[in-house]
Amino acid sequence: MTIYRGGCHCGRISFSVSGEIDKLLACNCSLCSKRGGLLWFVGREQLTLDSPKADELPTYRFNTRRVAHHFCDVCGCSPFSEAPGSGGKEMAAVNARCLEGVDLGAYEVTHYDGRNH
Ligand SMILES: [Zn+2]
Repeated sequence: MTIYRGGCHCGRISFSVSGEIDKLLACNCSLCSKRGGLLWFVGREQLTLDSPKADELPTYRFNTRRVAHHFCDVCGCSPFSEAPGSGGKEMAAVNARCLEGVDLGAYEVTHYDGRNH
């Protein structure tokens, strides 16, 4: 199992994620198309925040408001989101662009039509 380090640009948000990246998801919903992240979905328990707690971070919600899109109010990066997944399991969508030392070109990118879902 690999431990990835990640966070925002300025370091206010920093975390580690355990697991193996299998594929990345590029979503075309109204938020993702502007934000431009490449998402890696993991169980929320695989994500360990160093600081601060997720519920203390600035958070953007839209549409169904189910997904908590956290962002840094210092540097503006959006390194991860949280949401209940199918079956109620808590999930996190990690922006792989905010992980350290990851060769993004090495992974398959699935294009998800979030705009029409
Ligand atoms: Zn920051």
